[in-house]
Amino acid sequence: MKKTASKPASPICRVAVSIPLRKLFDYLIPDNLDSKSLQAGIRVVVPFGRQQRIGIIIDPCVTSTIEHSRLKPLQSIIDAQPLFKQHDMRLLEWAARYYHHPVGEVFHAALPGLLRKNQAAELPTETILCLTQQGQAISLDSFKRAPRQLELITLLQNSPEKQLSTDQLSAQNIHWRQCLSGLIKKKLIEQQTRISKWQPSQTSWTSPLALTKAQQKAVDAVAEDSDQFGVFLLDGVTGSGKTEVYMHLIQQLLDQHKQILVLLPEIALTPQLEERFRSRFPVPIGVYHSGLSDKLRCAHWLRFQQGIAPILLGTRSATFIPMQQPGLIILDEEHDPSFKQQEGFRFSARNVAIRRAQLLDIPILLGTATPAIETIYNAQTQRYRHLKLPARAGKAVLPELKLLDIRNRTMHAGLSEPLIQHIDKTLSRNEQVMLFINRRGYAPAYLCHQCGWVARCPRCDANAVVHINEQRLWCHHCGSNSTLPRNCLACNGKEVEALGVGTERVEKMLQQHFPDAITARFDRDNVRTKAILDVMLTSVQNNEIDILIGTQMLAKGHHFPNVTLVCILDTDQGLFSTDFRAAERLAQMIIQVAGRSGRADKVGQVILQTRQPEHPLLLTLIRQDYAQFAINSLQERQQADLPPITHHALFRAKAPNQAAPLALLQKLRIELEKITETILILGPVPAPMEKLAGQYRYQLLLQSKHRQELHECLNRIIPYIDTLKENKQARWSIDVDPIDLY
Ligand code: ADP
Ligand code: ZN
Ligand code: ZN
Repeated sequence: MKKTASKPASPICRVAVSIPLRKLFDYLIPDNLDSKSLQAGIRVVVPFGRQQRIGIIIDPCVTSTIEHSRLKPLQSIIDAQPLFKQHDMRLLEWAARYYHHPVGEVFHAALPGLLRKNQAAELPTETILCLTQQGQAISLDSFKRAPRQLELITLLQNSPEKQLSTDQLSAQNIHWRQCLSGLIKKKLIEQQTRISKWQPSQTSWTSPLALTKAQQKAVDAVAEDSDQFGVFLLDGVTGSGKTEVYMHLIQQLLDQHKQILVLLPEIALTPQLEERFRSRFPVPIGVYHSGLSDKLRCAHWLRFQQGIAPILLGTRSATFIPMQQPGLIILDEEHDPSFKQQEGFRFSARNVAIRRAQLLDIPILLGTATPAIETIYNAQTQRYRHLKLPARAGKAVLPELKLLDIRNRTMHAGLSEPLIQHIDKTLSRNEQVMLFINRRGYAPAYLCHQCGWVARCPRCDANAVVHINEQRLWCHHCGSNSTLPRNCLACNGKEVEALGVGTERVEKMLQQHFPDAITARFDRDNVRTKAILDVMLTSVQNNEIDILIGTQMLAKGHHFPNVTLVCILDTDQGLFSTDFRAAERLAQMIIQVAGRSGRADKVGQVILQTRQPEHPLLLTLIRQDYAQFAINSLQERQQADLPPITHHALFRAKAPNQAAPLALLQKLRIELEKITETILILGPVPAPMEKLAGQYRYQLLLQSKHRQELHECLNRIIPYIDTLKENKQARWSIDVDPIDLY
């Protein structure tokens, strides 16, 4: 197009601003800003209403459909270099479209907290002291009467580069501060600031293990196609050496100067893997999870983004960190529901990572012992390459799984007598026992035998849970709590009782029954920080603990060589849930938990207490046949038209009253019926827990055979919601590919 008018139209740029609106915003570029310094992917400060916001330039030069007089100018530019490259931006824009989430919020989610503010994207620096020419030449004799100066000059002269950072000096415990200014004045030393250099924390590294045939096949399969996109499922039983496969591939990519992004479901898993990686690779390894300080998170983000750290281990928030030299993405424990964000920007880190690998044209490796049914489906339909490690590496063998029929058995705090005998035998061999129960606290109910009163959460449709150590009643859904009353709150009767079993109660019973055994309880109440977890895990490794009692927290990743008896106390809980994914979760839990037993040279056993000893799911699983379970499960989903055969999107709405969310979703249903005849619309119905934290919750589920059709429908319905007056009375959200239907 030829410009005609004498005065050229003022340039306009398009910005993603972090606000909950599903659109981009146009801004004028003021004359005092050099429009050449505006590039896609840099951060800018923009006026928004009466406030200032941080935005990211999506397009530095657009033709706006909005009249220029109504546009405001950009305030300032933060970055000289783009934080995001073209393919990062395409991924984020895709994620915003796919999850129907406000694009500005998606961009913000990809940044560390500090860079969401008006702060320069700068790597951490360090101060170094360097010898000048003069300082290098000077004879040590000249410091006879200045011992501190002598000490510092000697150290610097002996250092290979004739310079040391102040951190290195402080670590040497010498008094350098006091004599510094004198030496600077004499022009013997110069002080400089530079970007912190990586210093290895050790001097020797472990060597790779010789791979088994199956491991080698897996490594070769990925390596042969490592210069293009491909999804590989590494389906290996617990202890089969998946991590060794990762490390061999990582080494190959390091040799090619490529970067590797490793995603893990939880921060509890990072220290062990981090340790194994650090002891193998003499390169900077970044970590990224919510347990780090803002400053460290930002530093690790930037080091990976700039290619300084070739490896990064992170949880789902690391999915979007830009790479300089993308080589490979590894996603460990791919089946884990923690990869799905359950609030705000509800993305699946696995599915986004796969899309990312596709945009970058690199391979992605999904590792697990218990693939998600969805992943099995994708492998069956040839979208993913299926690599298998069928046996444990080294000498370890898979443990034996047994069902323990507890019908008509006397139970002691959730433990049957035969189980107590098994524990006794294991302890007498000086081996460790691990017990699982998926409920923390002492007991899940507190009730009055005289009048039938049950302690309830005042804000949720839920019973209050008894916590004996704290003498409190807690709601596990919203966190409300109160002191544990001695008498019934309804009739003041004395015959109140805690009913049912949680981790605290199991621990108390075992302490009474095995007074010589040391117990450790792994649940969120007892293990509040990563530091505490590390200490407890170390005591287990050192055999200072005999019995481990825990929730799911204990089920994942850990490697305890002396645990030989593992037991699930409440197996049946997962068998009768209304959630169609409950069986999958239970099966994964059982196989993962079983994987904690007998991982070294001692043979382990796994006991599942059940009142359903004939249940087909349990019978399949005790044969350790997760693959068969997955085939059956997929067939059932096929027959019932459930994901992954069909696709779900879930609208949720909530408000402090029942009418508003229901009214909003009813309006939606009416409009949806006009838009589509083929998409199944289910609801609105109350959420399985209708009232939570004082809010009434309703939901409307869409189910479609075709993903595209579902997205087109969402594209039409979401703008419509913004026009509804009911939208003001209830808060709504959309969840694409929900994994929890409430
Ligand atoms: P996974 O990640 O599949 O659960 P790991 O990688 O933790 O398994 O391996 C389990 C154990 O087997 C570890 O102690 C590991 O050192 C060992 N191991 C892995 N590969 C080999 C191998 N090729 N030869 C001998 N031992 C191995
Ligand atoms: Zn009572
Ligand atoms: Zn509550």
